[in-house]
Amino acid sequence: MIQSQLNRSSALVELPEHVRTLLGEPKNEIIVNFPVLMDDGSYRVFKGYRIQHNNVLGPYKGGLRFHPDTRLDECKALAMIMTFKCALMDIPFGGGKGGVKCDPRSLSESELVRVTRRFTHALGANIGPEYDIPAPDVGTNAKIMVWIMDTYMNTAGYTDRNAQPRVVTGKTLECGGSQGREKATAQGLVHCVVEWARDAGVTLEGKTALVQGYGNVGSHTAMILARMGVSIIGVADHAGYMLNPEGFNTHRLADHVRRHGSIDGYSKNHIVTRDEFFAHKADFFIPAALQNQIGEKEAQLLQVQLVAEGANSPTTRDGEAVLQSRGIEVIPDVLANAGGVTVSYYEWVQNGRNESWDLEEVETRLERAMTRAYQRVVDYARDKKCSLRDAAYALALLRLKQVYAQRRIFP
Ligand code: NAD
Repeated sequence: MIQSQLNRSSALVELPEHVRTLLGEPKNEIIVNFPVLMDDGSYRVFKGYRIQHNNVLGPYKGGLRFHPDTRLDECKALAMIMTFKCALMDIPFGGGKGGVKCDPRSLSESELVRVTRRFTHALGANIGPEYDIPAPDVGTNAKIMVWIMDTYMNTAGYTDRNAQPRVVTGKTLECGGSQGREKATAQGLVHCVVEWARDAGVTLEGKTALVQGYGNVGSHTAMILARMGVSIIGVADHAGYMLNPEGFNTHRLADHVRRHGSIDGYSKNHIVTRDEFFAHKADFFIPAALQNQIGEKEAQLLQVQLVAEGANSPTTRDGEAVLQSRGIEVIPDVLANAGGVTVSYYEWVQNGRNESWDLEEVETRLERAMTRAYQRVVDYARDKKCSLRDAAYALALLRLKQVYAQRRIFP
């Protein structure tokens, strides 16, 4: 999917063939197998990945995912998306992604600490504050980022006095995280939806939304939209699907998920099938779970005006073709969920300068960055008569094309 997207947008910007070819593969593919002592005294070997796609614009940057289905190809595709996301947002970072093949829900907290620390140790000098900077993604959070930081500083810092806490972003506030980082991805997505509504001449008050995934991105998006008057009439996660025409109490549901690990058990009366969820009429559909959720079938079922992609790569090519033919607009992942890496960049800058910006400053900067990127993508799409996704990738590729033209290929 991502390769065919690269080809389509390369043609739009007449990208030189050698640049297209080199962007089609990551620079480095790191696979590590590491042993972990489990609580019952046994040892288990875990497999971890870090893909460094491109660093021509700056250090590799991207999330770490702890999920049983994490695999090499997935990390390669997601790392490539990060390169384009950072290029589109004009952030001086390249693209990376990684993770550990594991089910964090089945691990005790002490096992999770040991998995995180051994993984960080196995990556060793392959990460670093000026080289490759991980962040949270599916199955990881601020607490895990702090364990990575601590392990890195205790191991790399043993010999390298320049070991810095900014080796990871998305940390807790107490350990060097930024105000506004936790909800940044959701906030950025909502800025895009607000811009879309402004262009469409409609108000958000009274609109309805379905949200798939109720973790970091999904729950914060639901809570922010609800505050703006959007009724969240459908929610879903790995445990199931629920519809409520009256709208869910987004804060109470987030609290339930925090305590129980999923939406399961929140309400018996609203449980529906996956197909019923997708087919329910609403104004917005927000995928905020995993990739490849909107295939041809789901795209036929959806009865919405807009899909705003909180998740990375949630729409398949066939799904997108159906959405296009049905006139359903899509705000693509590289734009819609770029608020996360944008505030990660602010965190990295603050750490480097020993500064701590207040929430208002972070939010003002984020809003400016998101609305500017949104308008650039919309203008380009209008000008070239292409989809927002083709436009977003084309703008990213234009930046990479200029840099490669000036730097050339070494030697
Ligand atoms: P998370 O682990 O906090 O939440 C993931 C959610 O997806 C959970 O509610 C989980 O139950 C749900 N889920 C998992 N499998 C599912 C399935 N088969 N069906 C339905 N729901 C399922 O992760 P997150 O950080 O919120 O990330 C969600 C998506 O957003 C991912 O695609 C991630 O790459 C993307 N993203 C995250 C960030 C960030 O800052 N965290 C930034 C950009 C993009």
